[in-house]
Amino acid sequence: MTIRTTCGACGIGCGMIAHDEGDGRVEITGDIRHPANRGQLCAVGLGLSDMPDGDERLLHPVIAGRRASWERALAHVARRLKDITAKHGPGSVAFLLGRDLLNEDYYLANKLLKGFIGSTHICMPSAPGLDTNARRLAGQLGEDVTPASRDDIDLADLILLFGGGRPILRERIEEARHLRDARVAVVVETNQPMSAAEADLHLPVAPGTTVALIRGLIAHCRRAGAIDEQFLRNHVAGGDRLLVPEEGADDLWSTARTCALPPARLQHFFDLFATAARTLTLFEEDAEAGALTAAILDLHLATGRLGRAGMGPMPLSAAPSAAGCRETGALTSFLAGHADFGEVNHQRLARFWGTNRLAHQPVEDISTLAARVATGEVRAIWAIGCSDAPGVGDLLSRCSFAILSESAAHTPANAAAHVLLPAHRWGERDGTRTALDRLVSRERPFLTPAGETRPHWWALTRAGRLMGWPDAFYFDRPADIFREHARLTAYLAYGRHVLDLHGFAAMSNPAYAGMTPWRWGATPFVGGRFASRDGKAVLSDAAFGNMPGAVTDNPKEAAPVMAGNNHLRHKDGHG
Ligand code: SF4
Repeated sequence: MTIRTTCGACGIGCGMIAHDEGDGRVEITGDIRHPANRGQLCAVGLGLSDMPDGDERLLHPVIAGRRASWERALAHVARRLKDITAKHGPGSVAFLLGRDLLNEDYYLANKLLKGFIGSTHICMPSAPGLDTNARRLAGQLGEDVTPASRDDIDLADLILLFGGGRPILRERIEEARHLRDARVAVVVETNQPMSAAEADLHLPVAPGTTVALIRGLIAHCRRAGAIDEQFLRNHVAGGDRLLVPEEGADDLWSTARTCALPPARLQHFFDLFATAARTLTLFEEDAEAGALTAAILDLHLATGRLGRAGMGPMPLSAAPSAAGCRETGALTSFLAGHADFGEVNHQRLARFWGTNRLAHQPVEDISTLAARVATGEVRAIWAIGCSDAPGVGDLLSRCSFAILSESAAHTPANAAAHVLLPAHRWGERDGTRTALDRLVSRERPFLTPAGETRPHWWALTRAGRLMGWPDAFYFDRPADIFREHARLTAYLAYGRHVLDLHGFAAMSNPAYAGMTPWRWGATPFVGGRFASRDGKAVLSDAAFGNMPGAVTDNPKEAAPVMAGNNHLRHKDGHG
């Protein structure tokens, strides 16, 4: 038997074929038909079939160290969560989510927590930068959408790679370089591992100066006439500020000095960029302030290099469902379906879900969750598939009620939980996953689930019903959840969001079962039409060099800029 599925180990989302050898062994090969990897797999993906099994699996629910039935465990979870919220308010409950859950799991975790418990204490402890970067993209482009995709590698004239890149993408970049003569420049800070990528130009910059390099590049484009004046005037709010001649400090020499680069090499880089029409920038989403994301968005906005094939910024994320958790709303800053907490969105979503308990405000700084637990503001945590993330066991041990949904029996966090719920793992899971560039793939089961393990979405559904909301948690299969998510995106898209899955709202169960990989959003922001209310993008202060409030590598300095953009979009009242 062979089953087409997806690797759940990183944000590339490679397609795989699982071959059941019939003797208990499963062989994994790359799926040549999958657009993410065209048959290639890295060592991590190939090793997935050696995941823990047997004694290493958590096989049945546990309450206070004793084996329990699912019925008893879920009744206990529902009763305790209701008691705690009745006594201490909805914000006393937090959900911590793993970075490799399926879209259907994220959707239901978000619906239960924000929609019905009424809390926005939701985060992904192993991917702390996701929320910041989601706000950054939404703040500048009007919607949290990755403008480019990996298919643009095959069409770009110049590929800028910030950091080491990923093996599967590197091979595709090398193909573009050798077969099409695409130029490749790699920027790596000298305290980071050397990139293994083949390149025309390597730029090892001093630690913490990547944003300064981009500022210098924008300043060079202004001097060299490589700014897209028409694009800035027509499609970028305040873009005409970049058209004024600048006497700033970001000249070649000062940038070379700041970044510790030879000026001749920097000039070569600037010239390469200024003369390449189709530029694709691949970069790791920075975990701290979103400063790198902001600067790269500015660079592409200033030069009009997005919204067309072969160009645009493309953030990379280690989280396997980097886009999935964001499109379903499973982070603190958005409600669901890329909608923020504006009043209109709030009313529409409350109507859609049929709830009067929908949370009103995002948490200002979810990274302070530990402090909220310490002060007793947060008293109950449900950690779902994230026992390996740093600090989770400690957080659980300090709560008056801790639930852990987990597939492994012996993680450091297991002992800290009052209730353990045994979960499916890769090979047993059934649902969809959206990779970093909006590519949706099916993860399919090919193993018999161990013991009494169940999917995360199933446990969330049952808990929601037992807490008193059976109509809202009617789901019997992942396809039910996928259809509701698709309907919701259409309902909150206002005709201008890139994320609008209305075409999938009535998808049949067989069609869901046989779904082949597809990408939502085609080429986002084509023709310079952004998803904000006025249809325009916004520059961050990174584009303006040393102006006051400029985005820097320092997260503390960058924070007010984030708050400003976020506030702007919230006032719009739409996502
Ligand atoms: S690149 Fe990522 S998704 Fe692809 S096989 Fe490796 S770990 Fe899995």
